Amino acid sequence: MGTSLRVLIVEDSEGDAVLIAQELQHSGYDLEYERVYAAEVFSAALDSRTWDLIIADYLVPGFGGLEALTILQQRDLDLPFIIVSGVIGEDTAVAAMKAGAYDYVMKDNLARLGPAIRRALQEAEGRRARRQTEETLKLRLDQLAALSQASQAVTASLDLDQVLAEIVSLASKVVAANYTSVVLVDETGHVGPSAENLPGVPALEYRIRDSGFTNLIVRSRRPVVIDRIGDDGRVSPDLGEEAPRFANPFLAEAGVKSFVGLPLMVKDRLLGVLYLHSLRSGAFHDQQSLLTAFANQVAIAVENARLFEETQRRLQELTLLNQIPVGGGAALDLDALINGALKGLHELKDADRTYFVTTDPDARTWETTHELTAPGIEPDTGLSGTFADTQVELATLLDGQPFAVSDIATDPRVEGTREMYRALEVQSKLLVPVRIGKQLRGALGFDYCRERHVWQPDEVRLLEGVARQLELALENVHLFEQVQLRAEELTTALDRLEEADRFKDEFIQNISHELRSPLALIRGYAEMLETGELGELPPEQQKPVAIIARRARMLGDLVQDITLILEAEVNPPEPMPVPLDKLAQAAVEDFQVVVEQAELTLRAEIAPCLPPVGGSPNYLRRVLDNLLGNAIKYTPEGGTITVRLRQEGEHVALEVSDTGVGIPPDQLERIFERFYQVENAARQEQSGIGLGLALVKEIVEVYGGRVMVESQMGEGTTFTALLPIYADPGESDQTHAAANGQAGAL
Ligand code: ADP
Repeated sequence: MGTSLRVLIVEDSEGDAVLIAQELQHSGYDLEYERVYAAEVFSAALDSRTWDLIIADYLVPGFGGLEALTILQQRDLDLPFIIVSGVIGEDTAVAAMKAGAYDYVMKDNLARLGPAIRRALQEAEGRRARRQTEETLKLRLDQLAALSQASQAVTASLDLDQVLAEIVSLASKVVAANYTSVVLVDETGHVGPSAENLPGVPALEYRIRDSGFTNLIVRSRRPVVIDRIGDDGRVSPDLGEEAPRFANPFLAEAGVKSFVGLPLMVKDRLLGVLYLHSLRSGAFHDQQSLLTAFANQVAIAVENARLFEETQRRLQELTLLNQIPVGGGAALDLDALINGALKGLHELKDADRTYFVTTDPDARTWETTHELTAPGIEPDTGLSGTFADTQVELATLLDGQPFAVSDIATDPRVEGTREMYRALEVQSKLLVPVRIGKQLRGALGFDYCRERHVWQPDEVRLLEGVARQLELALENVHLFEQVQLRAEELTTALDRLEEADRFKDEFIQNISHELRSPLALIRGYAEMLETGELGELPPEQQKPVAIIARRARMLGDLVQDITLILEAEVNPPEPMPVPLDKLAQAAVEDFQVVVEQAELTLRAEIAPCLPPVGGSPNYLRRVLDNLLGNAIKYTPEGGTITVRLRQEGEHVALEVSDTGVGIPPDQLERIFERFYQVENAARQEQSGIGLGLALVKEIVEVYGGRVMVESQMGEGTTFTALLPIYADPGESDQTHAAANGQAGAL
């Protein structure tokens, strides 16, 4: 078998044509040929089928080789054209070649025809192959450029509607679609946002019809390519039993002749379908890889825009959530707190009823206590029941879990409560527990009545977050209430204490008052006995009487201290000028006898011309008496006590030093407290009740001064009282200085 060859021969002579054919068969070709000799027939033959070669006689009456060549060139067909002629001169041959003939062969030398054809065919084949490679390359480049442009354009925006519009406008450039539609489909198979640019079609309302192409693509997740839509709307190829036979009528009306439907997939998820329509038949034939690549780009852009929208929505929700005034500064009132939270949630969600169910864990009952409803929705505030009525719900809530029902009609968990919910027209419901510690205090509730609401896990989590916030706030309220209760108890206790204190003061004051006169009598007689004014005492009575006299003095001092300390606290006498030097001098003289009895030395170092201090002579004398009395009490035999007075700036400093037992450093702070006594050996013998220094400090401070102490254990103690120099409140600074001068001169 030779090489098959389809030849169109332009030749008026049947005989010559046969000769040519024979020659070709000789050359080893399996020949199929047609002879023509008129222009129309030639044109028709060219159109009717494909040829490998044209052989034309140069001279055919009315239709020669050159005319045939012209027609061929108009068709833009790259077919080798060989002239066979009997009477052709060199010039004619050259002209023919110039016009585009591949070769010429003389009829008397037909043996050349075989090799000439072989060469021509080879060359034509080479040209075709090159042309094809170039075309493929160009196509690839165009596609790549278009795809990159598409991916840039569709991913440039994150707004879903804008992305869809961009896809529609781009498809015409990238994949040569005249019209485009994108239909998004959600997880439940419902049609979401879409975009299209089909003319004359009112905004496409895509519904997934059982018998439609979208349903086929959604189910099979494979592309559908329709090469032709007939005038009657019938599609071809026929895609089998399951597939629709007819295209939507509006496609034919828009002049669409072919279309392709591509599933938009991200990983294993279907996002929707992209339809590309063309006004040409077979426009999307053999374009599978480009179309898939384009659909992938579109899917990614849609997914990104969706994720972005989702994130935006969540962000918005969170922002709103944060604005819900739970636990805010003023939110310490339970009702205000719950109402505030419900208000925020009512704005955030579009639930028909947003409410709070208060539970009573002891009585095991619940009641809807707070509620907000959408317009036209009957509130169910006051609705109540027992835990037993709503067992399943309560078991979930007591467990700390949310109770979410997307479809009241079918959910088996609400079997026992369905009738109650039906009566309230509830279609979907969510209850989120609100607990304090482990105890259920109530639940946030959301009812959807007008249409069902499919609860999404992250949505429920968000509402649980609000419940947590509410829990914290409620806990605060709880704590606040407890603190308030405690504060009230404390105030009452404090009032009682203050009252008791007042009673005690009054009591002590009364007792002291009552004790004063009898004590003065006892003291007076005891001293008279002691000094022998009432006659010489027998020696065995002298000591006991001395003890009685000393104790009576001490008791008298004590009662005076008590009276003064209470008075100093409540109603101290107004300060008046007191010459402290004279007061000190008198005290030193008064103590002289006691000091000698105790075998101590008492010295006074009083600076001359000291100004008077502001105070009360009675009080200040008690200061001196107590400081001197202590010094004597706590200084062993042979010791020395020194009283010093000097001016220090605006103060007169009174210093009482002894060479006594000293005070432990860790107790120096405390000796000025009422009834505080240092634990030391000396104390045992010395009576006292720990009031003396407290009185000293109170008196000095009442008149604007202060007391200090320095002490070394076993070496001695020095108390210093700084008392402000007296300033007459009615006089100016100058006269005040003059008064000081006078006082000093006295
Ligand atoms: P008391 O009635 O016990 O003397 P005070 O208030 O006068 O009460 O003194 C408090 C305590 O300070 C005393 O118990 C004593 O231990 C200590 N104290 C006071 N003065 C001196 C002092 N000059 N030397 C040592 N200890 C002193």
